Amino acid sequence: MIAKAREHLKKYFGYEQFRKGQEQLIAAILDQRDALGVMPTGAGKSVCYQIPASILHGVTLVISPLISLMKDQVDTLNQIGIPTTLINSSLSAEEVDQRFKEIREGHYKVLYIAPERLDSGRFIHMLKQIHVPLIAVDEAHCISQWGHDFRPSYLHISKLVQSIEPRPVIAAFTATATDKVKDDIVRCLGLLGPERVTTGYARDNLTFSVYKGIDKRKFISDYVKHRQEESGIIYASTRKEVDDCHRYLTRLGIKAGKYHAGLSDTERMESQEQFLYDDIRVMVATNAFGMGIDKSNVRYVIHYNMPRNLEAYYQEAGRAGRDGEPGECILLYAAQDTATQKYLIEMSDADTERKTQEYNTLNTMVEYCHTPDCLQKYIVRYFGQEEFEPCGKCSSCTDERDLSDITIEAQKIFSCVFKMNQRFGVTLTAKVLKGSQDKKVKQFGFDRISTYGVMKEYTEKEIVQMIQVLTAEGYLKMSDSQYPVISLTTKVKPVLSEQEKVYQRLMKTPTDAPSYISSW
Ligand code: ADP
Ligand code: ZN
Repeated sequence: MIAKAREHLKKYFGYEQFRKGQEQLIAAILDQRDALGVMPTGAGKSVCYQIPASILHGVTLVISPLISLMKDQVDTLNQIGIPTTLINSSLSAEEVDQRFKEIREGHYKVLYIAPERLDSGRFIHMLKQIHVPLIAVDEAHCISQWGHDFRPSYLHISKLVQSIEPRPVIAAFTATATDKVKDDIVRCLGLLGPERVTTGYARDNLTFSVYKGIDKRKFISDYVKHRQEESGIIYASTRKEVDDCHRYLTRLGIKAGKYHAGLSDTERMESQEQFLYDDIRVMVATNAFGMGIDKSNVRYVIHYNMPRNLEAYYQEAGRAGRDGEPGECILLYAAQDTATQKYLIEMSDADTERKTQEYNTLNTMVEYCHTPDCLQKYIVRYFGQEEFEPCGKCSSCTDERDLSDITIEAQKIFSCVFKMNQRFGVTLTAKVLKGSQDKKVKQFGFDRISTYGVMKEYTEKEIVQMIQVLTAEGYLKMSDSQYPVISLTTKVKPVLSEQEKVYQRLMKTPTDAPSYISSW
């Protein structure tokens, strides 16, 4: 059988050899055993069920939540000679009947459906009339409530399996799953002693970076200007932030698309199409954008704000470089991002257990932003892969800047924040430390406090950056309000009493900044 699979790999797909994990999964499926394949994006998961589908007698059912991707896959399979069709909500009841008639008559080898179809009893009834040797479940993490994209309809899959005679083989695939999510997949899909293949989570062609305490707007405008010929996505966490960011780029004469749930269907559709067909190179979007976008030549994904957890981050960032060519994944971190995410968790209607879980996963995300370890290593370890050599190219691996002792500066900043009664924001605090003649400084009488001008050797911007670093490291805290106020945390005590020193990587200068950035 596996010889036949290899023959089909060549005949239909034009490839000489299986990639890591493919052969093992295909062999299991052809041997009528369930399978669970956890392989990174672009590793070639589809082939693992498409080839068995081309060999097995009957119609293979593929369940996938990615509507637009589904259409592409159906077109591709038909082009290469594997007759395939789909049933989705765009079809009328008559059209569905017609499709089923064709399916019963043996016109197709593969049928793609969205999971929502399984909510329909009629559909399940129709399925019983055909021979289904294999059910392939794509994006199988959607079945888990612990995953980042829970789809309740996925829970109907096992019911479907039970109602089909003889029981089809089930093969589940996902790119990212923690052990907990993997267990959920096996349990909720009712996989029987599945062949498990995990090829590792690393995406070798991607370079991960985190930048803290920088001017985010300036960063994106410089970055995008230097990469106008390349496709990229900028993710921001709120609609308002997407609007602001989009307006900013547009004002600079950069043609950008935008996408969020507040736009009309038509607007969203238009901007998505423009992006897919390269009429627009950069897309500013909330996380509503991306599920189902199979654009292989995305060269960079910038997160303007830190997302809510590492799974969501990896999924979104992983939309870069699906074609195997280099991709950059950049996260711009500011302390305010943590506050925003906490606020979103607090305001959600999740129960206490769920909220605690979300706070935990949020912490892991915040740690990612601060780890001096290899970022790719940090990610794969989170997903349970212990073995990994540092990638050598992420912003941690390439960070050769020396550590500088900023204990004295930190002490000055802490005492200034304290003397200002912990009631003001970053900008005003920096002005006071700089010794600015600003009206507001005088109005509050801050030109008469002892920390006025104690950091005059620094620029205001440098002081702001230092405050941001101290916040990122947990010494200072930003309030959750619209105009965040800085306050001290208990972490400052050992620093003020000289028991602990504070270090910071030397400030970035134009020479050690990445080459696409003209100045900071
Ligand atoms: P995934 O679903 O894991 O993200 P795909 O199934 O879309 O990945 O495959 C990614 C790309 O790799 C596709 O262009 C596919 O044709 C190609 N591919 C799959 N298997 C092989 C193989 N054995 N040899 C070479 N290329 C392959
Ligand atoms: Zn690294």
